[in-house]
Amino acid sequence: MECEFIYKNLLETIPKEKILINEPMSKHTSFKIGGNADVFIEPSEIEEIVEILNYAKKENIRINIIGNGTNLLVKDGGIRGITIKPNFKKITKEILQDEIVYNCGSGISLSLIANEALKDGATGLEFAYGIPGSLGGAVYMNAGAYGGEMKDVVFETTFLDETGNVHTIKNEEHQFEYRSSVFQKKNTIIIKSKLKLKKGKKTEIEAKMNENMQSRKEKQPLEFPNAGSVFKRGENFIAAKLIDECGLKGAKIGGAEVSQKHAGFIINRGNATANDVINLISKIKNVVKEKTGFEIKEEILIIGESK
Ligand SMILES: Cc1cc2nc3c(=O)[nH]c(=O)nc-3n(C[C@H](O)[C@H](O)[C@H](O)COP(=O)(O)OP(=O)(O)OC[C@H]3O[C@@H](n4cnc5c(N)ncnc54)[C@H](O)[C@@H]3O)c2cc1C
Repeated sequence: MECEFIYKNLLETIPKEKILINEPMSKHTSFKIGGNADVFIEPSEIEEIVEILNYAKKENIRINIIGNGTNLLVKDGGIRGITIKPNFKKITKEILQDEIVYNCGSGISLSLIANEALKDGATGLEFAYGIPGSLGGAVYMNAGAYGGEMKDVVFETTFLDETGNVHTIKNEEHQFEYRSSVFQKKNTIIIKSKLKLKKGKKTEIEAKMNENMQSRKEKQPLEFPNAGSVFKRGENFIAAKLIDECGLKGAKIGGAEVSQKHAGFIINRGNATANDVINLISKIKNVVKEKTGFEIKEEILIIGESK
């Protein structure tokens, strides 16, 4: 279906400034790679999403959700249908005797919430400082680092199902596992989550956050566009270590390169295409399998159409 046609129909219910057509996904991903999304919308009201879902269902249009685009590789042919980037940015808090509960919109960046917790002297989210995703993406992925993960702090999450009905689930219903949650099994849109943190000591929280950030700066190629660790940790191996042992640091295809600083990262040297990254991933997997026998699997999500 023509993007202009979708655009005109959506204008009946969504403010013009929230809808973009033929939007380059390189602008919305940390890899700075990706073809155009036919229609790209940043809704900030639940009702707007419900309107989009109803319209998409009626016209049989595909819906894709993105957060900060920091765990995504969008293919060079772009994304058909409607891409939604939820723009819920409200944060409120409830101060209890020993805890603070943060009610956070899914579009807020994790680091911003960690900073808010620091201001209040609330502990538990130090691990998330420096993870560049949105809260929604972090819940979806059960993002984690330095011994912590979203599973440890999420109290409940409110989401919309495919038909626009609102649901709220408690922590144990998230089915959190290593880089996985129940949201990966269904088409839903996370609206907000409540995070429960304990009251702690500001100096200790700040020291931990600084230590984590320092470690990221030392170990990760933050000076180049990337999407974090490309591969998942295995039960009995660390993918980056295997890649390093196979001599793949610095291996290149087109503008995509295995980082010299951290073998688990692929960096965009400036002109990488999604195809370059996909071919490099495939090369890495083949070499690692051949030389070590281990099958490594992607942590990043690859979406969209090939060119
Ligand atoms: C430099 C760097 C360092 C990183 N370090 C870490 C790390 O230490 N630990 C870690 O776990 N990850 C890390 N990551 C990866 C990434 O930041 C996390 O996976 C993050 O949780 C992804 O969030 P996002 O908002 O960018 O999601 P996106 O990449 O935009 O999307 C990821 C998935 O979440 C879904 N999604 C996003 N928002 C919603 C929503 N509101 N409702 C429903 N589904 C949604 C999308 O559909 C997609 O399937 C790193 C990435 C970079 C670039």
